[in-house]
Amino acid sequence: SPARSSVIIVGAGIAGLSAAKVLVKNGVEDIIILEASGRVGGRIRKQEFGGVSVELGAGWIAGVGGPKINPVWDLAQQSRLRTCFSDYSNARYNIYDPSGKIFPSGMAADSYNKAVESAIQKLKNEERKDGLDETKKMDQPCNPETPIELAIDFILHDFEMAEVEPISTYVDFGEKEFLVADERGYEHLLYKMAENFLFTSDGEISDSRLKLNKVVRELQHSRNGVLVTTEDDCTYEANYLILSASIGVLQSDLISFKPPLPRWKLEAIEELDVIVYTKIFLKFPYKFWPGGAEKEFFMYAHERRGYYTFWQHMENAYPGSNILVVTLTNGESKRVEAQSDQETLKEAMDVLRNMFGPNIPDASDILVPRWWSNRFQRGSYSNYPIYVNQQLVDNIKAPVGRIFFTGEHTSEKFNGYVHGGYLSGIDTGEALLEEIKESERKKLIQPFLV
Ligand code: FAD
Repeated sequence: SPARSSVIIVGAGIAGLSAAKVLVKNGVEDIIILEASGRVGGRIRKQEFGGVSVELGAGWIAGVGGPKINPVWDLAQQSRLRTCFSDYSNARYNIYDPSGKIFPSGMAADSYNKAVESAIQKLKNEERKDGLDETKKMDQPCNPETPIELAIDFILHDFEMAEVEPISTYVDFGEKEFLVADERGYEHLLYKMAENFLFTSDGEISDSRLKLNKVVRELQHSRNGVLVTTEDDCTYEANYLILSASIGVLQSDLISFKPPLPRWKLEAIEELDVIVYTKIFLKFPYKFWPGGAEKEFFMYAHERRGYYTFWQHMENAYPGSNILVVTLTNGESKRVEAQSDQETLKEAMDVLRNMFGPNIPDASDILVPRWWSNRFQRGSYSNYPIYVNQQLVDNIKAPVGRIFFTGEHTSEKFNGYVHGGYLSGIDTGEALLEEIKESERKKLIQPFLV
């Protein structure tokens, strides 16, 4: 029979690793971390492209400069990660129409205010619906229609992920955002963290408790423990299990549970939205876009919402790299994932030629991450419904028997962010420690009860 450890952790993203750290630091050292892919980091992932290191997943440390210190900012300082200040609120003043003209800033500001107003109106309507008072005639929010309104609506909702204020990340940790621009990648802070509790050498984790390329396919659980089967037919047994797979993976059929998850859990999992968010990188022989910090972000106003809308140049992060990044989301992300990169390149070049004229050079390389098709991810991050009830939040993270849930999606306040993943791992690790202590206490007093 397989060797039994105290705890199995499924997934070596930031949540799985921070949970592991809490356990090991508190004396639970016989853990096993099973990671489906060949690397740690999950949605924190760098790749060499065009001579620099680009971030396919998380790119910003969001929430800096506020009343509390963002723990991820703290980790970044400790690991001396190179970052640069990034301000995308300027984007709305750099909006191009399809003939290459920049909209006057007054017009952009008007559209922006209108979009915020409309979002607030929508929220109020939701609130009223929630109160079941549907007989009242409500003011309909004006839907975005013109290309510039569509562009602004896109950055407000799909890029800034703005539900309407207050956003806990900004309230607690501050409104500033820093872009990670480090050749070692955002993931370097994970290695630094791992150094504290796993064996590492030469910037690699060399600990035998971390097992890569182990795709968990079945979780058998009972009052006595958990038995895990991986795709390569290995089995692992433990007293408890922490599952950090993303919400997209939980919604898919990658992992089967025996017995199946209870209905309240399945319903909570189904209720969260999966956002797909794709950063496409394009390398050019030379720079043809306006430079400068206030021009770092620019937008393209097309009649189709989200069609190559949001652009960023990488000159602030990596001067001379001649790389542009365009962000697509949801339907557009899925569409480009399904087509060839050459087709995507052509679409992006057509848009750029509309903005900057026919004579700009062709991109020499393109990189299209596929977070939606990746069966170990199935999307980029979770999004809670605007009116989330406490029961849903509780059910998302509540354990089922000996299976504990963690990950970005289990963080009520910071879901969708790296710090959400990090803090959820700590929370889950601590909750499990409590459970272990409690069961040991029961075992101790049991003999006296008989
Ligand atoms: P993950 O990193 O997904 O870790 C889960 C791990 O589980 C993965 O390694 C996966 O391979 C593994 N796994 C899954 N299924 C199995 C299985 N069956 N068996 C074994 N292992 C399995 N956040 C920010 O703060 N700032 C940003 O700028 C930002 N931008 C983003 C941009 C993109 C494109 C994406 C994708 C995400 C972005 N995020 C950003 C969100 C952030 O990356 C995540 O919230 C965070 O990294 C999630 O960490 P996690 O540990 O919860 O999940």
